[in-house]
Amino acid sequence: MVNEFFYKQPVKIWFGAGKFRQLGEILGELECKKCVLVCGRHFAPEARAMMQDIPCIAAVFGEVEQNPQLSGAAETARLAREVGADAIVGVGGGSSIDTAKFAAAAAPGDADIVDYYTGKVPFPGSPLTIVAVPTTAGTGSEVTQVSVMSHGKEKRTINNPLFMPTAAIVDPTLTLTVPPRTTMNTGLDALAHALEGYWSRNHQPLADLFAIEAVRVILANLETAWRDGSNLEARTNMLYASMVAGLAFSNPRTAGSHACSYPLSEDYHLPHGEACAFTLDSFVRINADERLEYLCRRAGLSGTEELAQRIAYLKELGGLRRKLSDLGEVDLDKLCHDCAVHVLMNNNPVKMDEAALREMFEALK
Ligand code: NAD
Repeated sequence: MVNEFFYKQPVKIWFGAGKFRQLGEILGELECKKCVLVCGRHFAPEARAMMQDIPCIAAVFGEVEQNPQLSGAAETARLAREVGADAIVGVGGGSSIDTAKFAAAAAPGDADIVDYYTGKVPFPGSPLTIVAVPTTAGTGSEVTQVSVMSHGKEKRTINNPLFMPTAAIVDPTLTLTVPPRTTMNTGLDALAHALEGYWSRNHQPLADLFAIEAVRVILANLETAWRDGSNLEARTNMLYASMVAGLAFSNPRTAGSHACSYPLSEDYHLPHGEACAFTLDSFVRINADERLEYLCRRAGLSGTEELAQRIAYLKELGGLRRKLSDLGEVDLDKLCHDCAVHVLMNNNPVKMDEAALREMFEALK
């Protein structure tokens, strides 16, 4: 039986190899007159060159780093005010897209950006137009209203409808240069989104369809994309699947693996995807039930045990950290406490208290 649900997906999506070349036309279609382009260093030279061909790009902020700092969003918002921009284009992994989202929401206001971050002051409303252009196949940030920003050592996930991109240009040719390790990390992040959206306590039928599709496509393509980054077919399938996985979790939200990823990133410095993957196969076993068996069969697997084994295999293949001893000296009491109290743990279908988490982590010794 299908129960009540609320599903929202307002992002216009342009998908396909070479679509990014239409950026100027798409900005025109969105009625944008001037924009700031935000990216990381890997794309900054190309972004500056694009200013010649697309006069609508009035400024570039090309300094976004992994675990993006709020100061980058502040600088982007300042640039947007300076040039009178009506849009922000984020080109990159989740770090660049999340910076673009935060800057677009903050730019129309005059409060200190830290006050928006802490929630002391509400965003002004009416954000600038957000155009998200992913260059990694992982976060699905191009279709979510989430922005993950760090301020000093603190990393916050902020969920706000103002962050929902207006448009996404999803062009797999932009992912051809992603190095193998990042390919594996981000691919497993996408797999975690699909699985966690599916087993979330807030799961819902439309998102379930996206989750099943994303799991099927990721398991069929991630290893090939990792082995041969120049394989456009595998890259296309992975970028499609990471976007679909974004649609799978944006309404139900994520659960146990993501709750654990925050302490693992903050205290043990694992990149986001690797941090999610660290416990993903454990949670497959913990959360195994009839629904998950159904997903596995639809995704071409024999069942949940094969799913857990495939995740472990991909982690080993990619050289990701898998054991507690891989993390260095671990404060297990603190790790279990911080995972247990993370808000996303409430979304896990099986209740996980500190004792249950200790048992899970001890099995990874
Ligand atoms: P990232 O954006 O941090 O990029 C990782 C590295 O890859 C960077 O050094 C970047 O410069 C480089 N890179 C990106 N694209 C490249 C390319 N095409 N070629 C070569 N190098 C490239 O990594 P990510 O995994 O995409 O994003 C992680 C961030 O997104 C984290 O902060 C995470 O918390 C956040 N996140 C956000 C959402 C959301 O819905 N907003 C969801 C999941 C994760």
